Amino acid sequence: MNPSTDRGRTAGVVGMGRSGAAAARLLAGCGYSVVGFDSSPASIGTEHMSRTVFGGFSDFDLKDLSLLVLSPGVPTTAAVSVRACELGVSVIGEVELAWTNTSADVLAVTGSNGKTTTVEWLSHVIKSSEPAAEAVAAGNMGYAFCDAILDNPFCPVFVLELSSYQLETTVSLRASSAVILNLTPDHLARHGTMENYGDAKARVFLNQEKDDTAILNFDDPLLERYRSISDGLQMYFSLKEEVALGAWMDSSGMLLYRDESCRVEVIHSTELALPGKHNIANALAVICLAASYGIPTEKLVAGLTNFTGVPHRIEPLGMASGLSWFNDSKSTNVDSLKVALESFNEKVILIAGGKEKNSDYSVLNELITKKVKNIVLFGSGAESLSLQWNGTAKILIVGNLEDAVERVLFLAEREDSVLLSPGCASFDQYVNFEERGDHFKRLVQALK
Ligand code: ADP
Repeated sequence: MNPSTDRGRTAGVVGMGRSGAAAARLLAGCGYSVVGFDSSPASIGTEHMSRTVFGGFSDFDLKDLSLLVLSPGVPTTAAVSVRACELGVSVIGEVELAWTNTSADVLAVTGSNGKTTTVEWLSHVIKSSEPAAEAVAAGNMGYAFCDAILDNPFCPVFVLELSSYQLETTVSLRASSAVILNLTPDHLARHGTMENYGDAKARVFLNQEKDDTAILNFDDPLLERYRSISDGLQMYFSLKEEVALGAWMDSSGMLLYRDESCRVEVIHSTELALPGKHNIANALAVICLAASYGIPTEKLVAGLTNFTGVPHRIEPLGMASGLSWFNDSKSTNVDSLKVALESFNEKVILIAGGKEKNSDYSVLNELITKKVKNIVLFGSGAESLSLQWNGTAKILIVGNLEDAVERVLFLAEREDSVLLSPGCASFDQYVNFEERGDHFKRLVQALK
């Protein structure tokens, strides 16, 4: 985009949240006059917009646009996008807009679970390599790519978390290395079928050339169909078996990496910063991404061991009242709760509940029997969860998180681990999972 030629032109931005605001900031900086579209005026980012259109729109609002940028939450099937296309307006996503305005490299991460952890871990590993390299994590994890390139104009590489929504509207993005971590049925309401959902994720490999690297989870059968989709070098990671190119864990727990020129032991799984098998998988992905980008494997070790993790994902809160506390407020569904319980070797006291998802929670019964001493349930789903988990561990129902923490203090014995892993959405009592997790952290902090 060229400020001298773009001056005086008009661009639209649909969605005025974080990504929309960032897109408007970039467009305004390029000389565009920006029109913001949103279904409701409760949006935030109007600072760089010269005009806003809330609720309905008319052809009049679209006729002067030379470009329409969609926020990630807005599907290409949205009326405003469809009509803009019909009127010949070029429609792109916020990530695409940023990509066309930077010359930095991109390492891209997508998948159903583990994206934020992998992105933050990878950028930490790159920054911890000696001599320290620069990298900035951005994308779906809350720091819009447009903001990232404006704030860090000299950054050589961005580590991008990309959702399937964002990938639907990227056209020319070319990732030097890209990974699909896994695929689980999710977001099907928007994508319709698992194939459509996977195909949107596989757009992360679009435009790759032979010097680039495409990385897939070898253990995930749903990813098999994407094994030769990229024109780049195909790598895999596996928790179960040795792979031809990529990273794997052997039977002794050692993590190894092999590319076309070497086969090396990188680190033992017990030395990794984060607990749980799912995090070994994330570490293998980090190794593939960083090593294929050219960082020597011996320089990855520091960052793999001293990463402090991402808030709200089995986040250790330390000792309080003689107990070890863990905040896994990001656990909003059955799968996440399962992953959290599997990450503990000892039996925990589990605090769960919130707004129940329409799922079968009894699939966890065997695991709960093995891994949980007591369950304290709170929120609107408490009664239903207690029926489904009947007979697994001792269950107590309370009204809210504050009462849950109080009850835990009565139940617990010294050195017990207490895990908040709700397995449910937070919306019955909180704005989002972050607010729920922050509340839990304050309650634990008050015990110290
Ligand atoms: P995302 O950004 O894709 O939502 P996060 O890194 O925020 O993923 O992790 C969210 C939750 O997903 C974690 O709390 C954990 O329960 C689960 N998780 C993380 N990594 C994996 C993985 N590799 N496989 C399966 N589940 C995972």
